[in-house]
Amino acid sequence: MTDTMTKPVESLSEYVDRARAWLAALEPRFGAEARKGLSVEQDLALAREYQTLKSEAGYACITLPREIGGGGGTELHKILFTQEESKYDYPTVYFGVSLGMPVPMMLRYADQETIQRLIPPSIRGELIWAQLFSEPAAGSDLAALRTRAVRDGDGWRIDGQKLWTSWAQFADYAIGVFRTDPTVAKHAGLTFFWLDMKSPGITVKEVRKLAGKTSEINEVFFDNVYVPDSQRMGEVGAGFRVAIETLMIERYSVTDENMGGPSLYDVAKFAANARINGRPALDDGQVRHALADALVERQGLRSIHRRALNAMAAGEEPGPEGSIRKLRLARRRQIIAELSLDLLGAQGIALDPEVSRAQDAAWSWIEIPGGRIAGGTDEILRNTIAEKVLGLPQDYRPDKKVPFNQIG
Ligand SMILES: Cc1cc2nc3c(=O)[nH]c(=O)nc-3n(C[C@H](O)[C@H](O)[C@H](O)COP(=O)(O)OP(=O)(O)OC[C@H]3O[C@@H](n4cnc5c(N)ncnc54)[C@H](O)[C@@H]3O)c2cc1C
Repeated sequence: MTDTMTKPVESLSEYVDRARAWLAALEPRFGAEARKGLSVEQDLALAREYQTLKSEAGYACITLPREIGGGGGTELHKILFTQEESKYDYPTVYFGVSLGMPVPMMLRYADQETIQRLIPPSIRGELIWAQLFSEPAAGSDLAALRTRAVRDGDGWRIDGQKLWTSWAQFADYAIGVFRTDPTVAKHAGLTFFWLDMKSPGITVKEVRKLAGKTSEINEVFFDNVYVPDSQRMGEVGAGFRVAIETLMIERYSVTDENMGGPSLYDVAKFAANARINGRPALDDGQVRHALADALVERQGLRSIHRRALNAMAAGEEPGPEGSIRKLRLARRRQIIAELSLDLLGAQGIALDPEVSRAQDAAWSWIEIPGGRIAGGTDEILRNTIAEKVLGLPQDYRPDKKVPFNQIG
């Protein structure tokens, strides 16, 4: 395999050409046709092979150092590669959470020995990580979580339940936040850990979804699960701050290229083939307006994204403006799915469970609303924009300073 980053003088256009050629050569092995009809387990096995090749070629976790299996490149390399990769329907979905949030957080908080042992195989797709935040009564209000971690010698014992945990059924490890002190205000009594998902006492149950044969979301039950104190990330009681740090990374790990569903280019093709009143739909003023509107917004959102990534590359923390992008990105995917279905007519409604994400408009129309909930609902993002971007007064939070065990 060639090393993508060892040629210091490679221009960005040369980089894109090389990435294009690399991706195209893999289509027969990993593309939509090759994946058709595979079980989830078979698809995951294929995904691991693809991820290993990406790591060897320097296209996995492009901004992370080569020594741990990343690409040693810049945010710009990452955006350019993702744009090219999204033209294919390669099996990358299983690693979205794992490499998006837990791996970067481990790089910030774990010791060197743990990083060397666990991160390279994670980047190669051999290990998968989950994110244990939400619970039945704690989603938007994450600080209301109830799953307890109680001191036990050199470690902690965890009891309770998490919910909506993406890919927990395949996860080897997880990061998560737990209540360590119920006698203080709800935000102050939380602590953040990483843990082994194969630990005795953990049970994972898949949650069925409307849209498909597989669900990525799960319930995770903890029954007296032991976690050593050495796996604590941050100070005892600082878990809420570490969780917010993770969510800030999450808002930037989603791109319009990796949200699934038909691309704008696909929609233009649907419009070219559809007819309205006997004329090509592409000639219709409303269709042209909808396409132009989507394109203009996409460019605006990409520019917010790139500015933020450049700031991160310069060592700054991502700011609250990521909420604007996340809010509009998910809604826009939904509008694009609706427009696709309108243009495809009856043909678009037939839901084929074998067809891939990237190809199917009906599938994406059913699936995409979840994107308006995961990683922060529309309403919560609007609150963040109101308070942190526009400087409006805070939402009413009567329980903010009350000890958690005294909240009714
Ligand atoms: C596909 C998918 C994958 C997910 N993956 C993970 C994962 O891997 N790990 C994980 O920890 N979680 C995950 N989640 C959970 C996700 O983070 C939560 O669903 C989300 O935070 C919302 O919480 P909730 O479902 O408890 O809804 P609630 O918080 O109960 O909200 C219900 C409704 O009330 C509104 N609302 C709540 N509070 C306010 C307020 N103050 N002002 C105005 N409106 C409000 C909300 O906007 C929403 O419409 C996933 C969710 C989905 C859909």
